[in-house]
Amino acid sequence: PEIIHFLKNEYDISEVSVETWLLPLEIYSIEDESVVKLIVPDANFLGYLKKKYSTMLAVSIGEVTGFKCKVDFVVKDQIQEEQLKANQLIQNNQLMVSQTTLQEAGLNPKYTFDTFVVGANNSLAHAASLAVAESPGEIYNPLFIYGGVGLGKTHLMHSIANFILKNNPNTKIMYVTSEKFTNELIDAIRNKNNYSTTEFREKYRSIDVLLIDDIQFIIGKESTQEEFFHTFNALHDAKKQIIISSDKPPREIETLEERLRSRFEWGLSVDIQSPDYETRMAILRKKEELEGYNIDNEVIKYIATNIKSNIRELEGALTKIVALSKLGNNGSSNKEINLALAEEALKDIISPDGVQSITPELILQVVADHFDLTPQEILSQKRNKEIVYPRQIAMYLCRNMTAIPLQVIGKVLGGRDHTTILHGIEKITKDLQNNQSLQNTIDILKKKIHP
Ligand code: ADP
Ligand code: MG
Repeated sequence: PEIIHFLKNEYDISEVSVETWLLPLEIYSIEDESVVKLIVPDANFLGYLKKKYSTMLAVSIGEVTGFKCKVDFVVKDQIQEEQLKANQLIQNNQLMVSQTTLQEAGLNPKYTFDTFVVGANNSLAHAASLAVAESPGEIYNPLFIYGGVGLGKTHLMHSIANFILKNNPNTKIMYVTSEKFTNELIDAIRNKNNYSTTEFREKYRSIDVLLIDDIQFIIGKESTQEEFFHTFNALHDAKKQIIISSDKPPREIETLEERLRSRFEWGLSVDIQSPDYETRMAILRKKEELEGYNIDNEVIKYIATNIKSNIRELEGALTKIVALSKLGNNGSSNKEINLALAEEALKDIISPDGVQSITPELILQVVADHFDLTPQEILSQKRNKEIVYPRQIAMYLCRNMTAIPLQVIGKVLGGRDHTTILHGIEKITKDLQNNQSLQNTIDILKKKIHP
């Protein structure tokens, strides 16, 4: 799918062409002389495909996989039935799950564990999801994932499903939003297009893994809740895996029917929190890698420092910067992506008067980054000068940029008592009187903390 996606974008090929010519192709063999042989379903179009698409395919395979190759075609009829089956098995296991399977299951192939960055905010949810993906129906049932918007619930759910399908392509998986579930049920009740509630029930009760996203939207819709309750029971009784997401944990969903709530609590509930600075950095770097961007570290840090609420906004910021750089120079080359461009791109998102509140945590992160240390090192008990000085600077900045009491600053900065903090602040204050470069450093740090 990635290769086809790349090819489609790169050469601007229409959907219908992709569906007609490219999607039906299957890999037949990959030979050492770097020839990829593809199976063409219909002999009549062999010549056309060769002429029109073989170069594009070769280039795309090269770009996506790094595998330089030529592309050749064979016609399906010419291959022995047996061989075909064997190849399909290999494909299922090694390469990818077919596009239609993914589509039918409602899955986005991009959302996988490989593209999911694990941080302190989501490590439990990640671990539970992986466990369920490895042993569906066997351990946590249901798995209930909750957290605010844009924090990765949907991504995790797709990751579970994609993982299961990859290991066992015959698993019947269904990912639905609770909205879709509701609408389908409504259609069934109204018998729209002859779709009946019997069919609806058969459909949802015959699957192996049901993922239902944003369950909060069926709350209060009585008939949907009722139907979901029965679906849940049928699947759970049959030891089929159920995965649910919501913006809140079951106990906090006020209007949730008691019997549903208790069902949800049978399994495991895990939450996803807002990502910390390190995780935001890691997510941005991952995104950069996946999209093939090449962005200055300063810019990445700028985004991670300023955008905190959720990951969708984080990605949005990155996309916006890249888009602006492409728009910039009318014509050939792109505008350089630097801090100024980033500030320009994000001026609506990040307000200049710093709606972003200044916390000791933020100061710690910025100071650590500036001195190429980790926050942990600053918090540690280490006494070498390379760490003590930045630590004292962090104390000084906390004192100067926030109204937080010394005791609290001490707590955040590694559980130090307030005399230690006071000593640090005095040291920096005194040094500042005759040390120009320290003054400069402090100024820069202040700007980084409060742009
Ligand atoms: P939610 O369902 O909780 O509202 P999504 O799963 O839709 O959030 O995530 C929003 C965006 O952020 C998606 O593009 C997703 O790929 C990305 N994202 C979320 N968490 C992570 C993560 N840990 N690593 C990488 N990308 C993430
Ligand atoms: Mg979601």
